[in-house]
Amino acid sequence: MTEYRFRGAVAPLRRAENVAPLRRAENAAPLRRAENAAPLLRAADAAPAPATVDGAVAALRPEMPLHCLRPATVAGAAAAFRAAFPGDVLYAVKCNPEPAVLRALWRGGVRHFDCASAGEVRLVRTMFPEAEIHFMHPVKARGAIREAFGRHGVRDFVLDSAEELAKLREETGGAADLGLVVRLALPKGGAVYDLSGKFGATEEAAAALLRAARPHAGQLGLSFHVGSQCLDPAAYARAIARAAAVIRAAGVVVDILDVGGGFPVSYPEVTPPPLRDFMAAIADAVAEHGLGHMTLWAEPGRALVAGGTSVVVQVQHRRGDALFVNDGVYGALSDAGAPGFRFPVRLVRPGGGGAAPVVPFTFFGPSCDSADRMEGPFLLPADVGEGDWIEVGQLGAYGACLRTAFNGFDQAALVEVADPPLLATPGYAALAAVA
Ligand SMILES: *Cc1c(COP(=O)(O)O)cnc(C)c1O
Repeated sequence: MTEYRFRGAVAPLRRAENVAPLRRAENAAPLRRAENAAPLLRAADAAPAPATVDGAVAALRPEMPLHCLRPATVAGAAAAFRAAFPGDVLYAVKCNPEPAVLRALWRGGVRHFDCASAGEVRLVRTMFPEAEIHFMHPVKARGAIREAFGRHGVRDFVLDSAEELAKLREETGGAADLGLVVRLALPKGGAVYDLSGKFGATEEAAAALLRAARPHAGQLGLSFHVGSQCLDPAAYARAIARAAAVIRAAGVVVDILDVGGGFPVSYPEVTPPPLRDFMAAIADAVAEHGLGHMTLWAEPGRALVAGGTSVVVQVQHRRGDALFVNDGVYGALSDAGAPGFRFPVRLVRPGGGGAAPVVPFTFFGPSCDSADRMEGPFLLPADVGEGDWIEVGQLGAYGACLRTAFNGFDQAALVEVADPPLLATPGYAALAAVA
């Protein structure tokens, strides 16, 4: 009953000379699928009931973190975003590259993928031969460009420097059918994570790059990223105004406006404005600045997948209001550490109980590093203790993909469940039954 199908273990650190070229070295064990939880069933298949988190915990009594994937939530979020956005929706693969998540996105209608590495390009191409892959990292390895272009049919590349434009020209043999997208830097705005510190050209440089790229581009684009978990729809409007100024200054035809990612989701005590407010801000700004003829792209990551995975952890020890749990900042809970994200939590106690009033707890992860601490506060029944399970929600974005094998705590299992997410994000819930 408690046997897990084993898909692999941590790859031991390999000496560089033993690493085959183009071979992806994985530093954490892939998530294992727990076999004995009921498979997710389509609503049409009446019995037995679809798997639930509670059912999976009762059946498996997992001593390793149990990742609970909600394919219907992911597919529904993708469908909702696609329905609301008047352009192409590129999923940002780095946010969660789990194959089951990518399949759910595909089911939700996503056909475009924003990849940032040869490994991501390969993964998407292997899974979806017809996918449109866009290589959206402004600083690429030459070999990654050659592989993406030559082997995987990638034509769209982002750049933020003249050197990268030259690199792209050289490594694609001066191809005439490239989609060249210039990344514009933005000042820090209303987002929790700033993403312009590292990438993006200044307005003057971006205008010059658009002019330089135009003769070599089948399609020319301009992109930006307002920062991740951006709670302010007006940040998109400000960025579009800036992009419009750059396009005017460039004085060349620009075909694509890529408004990036950053679309927010709910966390405890954080409810973002509804999706339609972001879409209205984008549409209004596009119209106001006369950019209505351009093809629009968006690159959402977090918004499509955050609600789609929770992780069930087990309490191994309680010390006052601190719970020692079996996952932490070196596992799927990295954002609960230094970034200080709060996540929704829920006691899962198959034997029943857990009716005590809730009080705040902090978590310690399993590693021996005292930085493996999650402040929370996480609100749980006052009698929570050793052996209890806790479901931590909204971990589908930048959670599982940041796991490490540090200190030997690399094992985790995966089940697919039909539960709704622990928190709904306004604008995404309505279509959650799509899959
Ligand atoms: C990370 C990233 C995204 C996704 O951002 P979210 O905030 O998760 O929506 C999109 N585009 C680029 C270029 C990124 O680096």
